[in-house]
Amino acid sequence: MATDPIDRRGFLLGSLALATAGRGALAAGRAAGGPYIDVHTHLGRTWNGDEPLTAEGLVRWMDANNVAKAVVHPLVSPESSSYLNLTEQALDAAKRFPDRLIPFCCIDPRTSYRNGRKGLTAMLKEYVDQGARGFGEHKVGLPIDHPLMMRAYEACDDLGLPVLFHCDDVRGTDEAGLPGLGRVLSAFPNVNFLGHGPGFWASISGDLKSGELGKYPTTKVAPGGALDRLFDAHKNLWGDLSAGSGSNAIARDLEFGRAFLIRRADRLLFGTDYLKPGQEVPQFGLFAGIDLPADVRAKVERENAAGLLKVSI
Ligand SMILES: [Zn+2]
Repeated sequence: MATDPIDRRGFLLGSLALATAGRGALAAGRAAGGPYIDVHTHLGRTWNGDEPLTAEGLVRWMDANNVAKAVVHPLVSPESSSYLNLTEQALDAAKRFPDRLIPFCCIDPRTSYRNGRKGLTAMLKEYVDQGARGFGEHKVGLPIDHPLMMRAYEACDDLGLPVLFHCDDVRGTDEAGLPGLGRVLSAFPNVNFLGHGPGFWASISGDLKSGELGKYPTTKVAPGGALDRLFDAHKNLWGDLSAGSGSNAIARDLEFGRAFLIRRADRLLFGTDYLKPGQEVPQFGLFAGIDLPADVRAKVERENAAGLLKVSI
């Protein structure tokens, strides 16, 4: 896209004022933006030492922050969290709040199962028949393109399920430039992959080195990042802006971040990774503080997710 005409200092001052306004609205108990579709939340107990989040607690938090609907992700891999949260819990919560919660399903690809691709697809189809709209959070201690991971993507391809994956230096691992992810995106052009996690979002910058995929860099974004290259090359790549990794990717260099939001507006998704009561969520202030065209804001905050997950807003 063309160079952004906005003067950098003016933009930063403007966004600072807006961010302050956003925080004021939040402090007053009102949401500053939205309505949002949040593509990334969890229920139950996630990390040891944290209070569990109930479905009621999640919906109350959604009400307070203008979140119309939220995707609930199971966590089923030992590397994914301290306590496992099964698909059945996400399905059950969505049955109790069908207008608000969108369940995803997940199976660790190291799970024992019979009948190969057919068997795995049939296991997932049971969840789809009960309302699951996607596969995730796929947060497995294997390389992102490991043969076992590819089997999971095959089953998702059979069922038309989008895959939300986590990438860092332990889960969904890859090298600098994300060549493994590139292979996955090429192998499954009909599967929509939603990228998430430090390794994915730190790859917005061209200076990320192999071995640094668990980091949250705060330096200005260097040109030549893997994400823009992969977004150009693969129409099945989406970005889940949740968690500290997603907000940091935009906030570390607001000028680049704003241009990235506009440039990739058709395939970016608002998300939080809210998983415990009282959790600090940087996305609300961040989004309120960036001056975005109305159509870009609507796409990222809700319309892209509604289209991808086939839900109404
Ligand atoms: Zn998560």
